[in-house]
Amino acid sequence: MTPKIARFLAENSPPTPFLVVDLDVIAHNYKRLAKAMPLASIFYAVKANPAPEIIKVLSKLGSSFDTASIYEIEDCLGLGIGADRISFGNTIKKEVDIARAFKHGVNLFAFDSQAELDKLAKAAPGARVFCRIFMTGEGADWPLSRKFGCDLDMARDLLIQARDMGLDPHGVSFHVGSQQRDLTQWDIAVGKTKMLFTALNEKGIELKMVNLGGGFPAKYRTRIPTADAYGEAIMRAMTEHFGNNLPQMIIEPGRGIAGDAGVIQAEVVLVSTKTYDDNRRWVYLDIGKFGGLPETMGEAIQYRLKTPYESGPKGPVVLAGPTCDEVDVLYDKADYKLPLALKVGDKVQILSAGAYTTTYSSVAFNGIPPLRGYYI
Ligand SMILES: *Cc1c(COP(=O)(O)O)cnc(C)c1O
Repeated sequence: MTPKIARFLAENSPPTPFLVVDLDVIAHNYKRLAKAMPLASIFYAVKANPAPEIIKVLSKLGSSFDTASIYEIEDCLGLGIGADRISFGNTIKKEVDIARAFKHGVNLFAFDSQAELDKLAKAAPGARVFCRIFMTGEGADWPLSRKFGCDLDMARDLLIQARDMGLDPHGVSFHVGSQQRDLTQWDIAVGKTKMLFTALNEKGIELKMVNLGGGFPAKYRTRIPTADAYGEAIMRAMTEHFGNNLPQMIIEPGRGIAGDAGVIQAEVVLVSTKTYDDNRRWVYLDIGKFGGLPETMGEAIQYRLKTPYESGPKGPVVLAGPTCDEVDVLYDKADYKLPLALKVGDKVQILSAGAYTTTYSSVAFNGIPPLRGYYI
C-alpha cells in the first residue's frame, strides 16, 4: 500500500467496500513497462479499469488504448483521445459497432474467424486488421485460451482473404493468458507468429505488426518476475525469431498497469464457525464475488490481504462475501490464514485490486450498490 493510499484511508471513511487507486502508481507502471520494452507501443487494455482518471493519466504519458466495445471506444474519444490511438481488439463485434468505430476513425481491428472478417470487409472497408492466433493459456492464472484465436493454418488463409477482400492485413496478435507467470510462453507465441509472417510473405503479403497482448502480472500471493524480466524475455524471443528485421510491436497491458495501483477497503461483517469444534472460522466480508471480486472464481486470483493485526497468532479461514448466494465464497481451498484476533467491524484491505474489480461488480445484487472507486 502506498503512503498516498494509506493517508486516504486514514483521513477518509466512506462506506465500505470501495477501491482507492493511486494514479502515481498507474504512471509508474506505465513508465516501467515502456522502459522494459522501449520498442513496443503500449495500448492500455481499457477493460482492466476504464476510470477516466486512469485513461487521462495514461493518455498524457502517450499511451494508446485497446478497447473491447464501442462503448469503451466512445468513452476514450470523449476524453479527447484520437481514433488513431485506439484499437478495437475484441474478436467478437457487432457489425453496427464496427461501422460506428470506423466512422469515428478507428482503423485497427482484431479478428479470428471468417465471419468476423466478412463483417469487417463490409463495415470497415480498407481497414487495418490483425488476426489473433490461439495460445494454450498455460502458465497463466487467468487463461484466455479456448475462446479466442484460431490456429496457424486458418490464420494464414484468413489473412490472405483479408487482402483479397480489400482489407489491409496488418499483423498478428496473441494473448498468452492474463497474470502469465511463465516467461517462455512469449517465445512459443512469437515463434508461431514468425511462421505466419513467413507463410504470408510467400503469398506476397508483408505483415507489419506483432501484437504481443497482455499477461503482465500484478502482485498477488505468488511471486512474479519483474517488468524488466518480461521485457528481456519478450525482446529475446523477438530477436531470436525475427532477427534484425523487427516488425512493429504492440503490448496491451491491463492488469500490469492497473492491478498494483489499487486497494479495496472492506469490512468484516461476521466471524463464525459451523460447529463447536470447528477449527476453521468463516470470515464474511462486505465484498465478495458479486461486489467486484469474480476473479476469485476457481480461486484463480489470490489477493493479498491486510488486517489491523500485523503480529499475533493466525488461524485458517474460509473467506466469503456478504450476499445470500452459496457461490459467494472467495477462498476455501487456497489455505488462507487470518489473525485469530480478527473481529466484526475490523477493516480488511485487499491489495493489488486495481484491475478487473470495479466494472466487474454487480449493479445491485442483494441490493448492494456497485463498487465505488476513488482515484487520487
Ligand atoms: C483483456 C485483454 C488484454 C489485457 O490483458 P491483461 O492480462 O490484463 O494485461 C489485452 N489484450 C486483449 C485483447 C484483451 O482482451
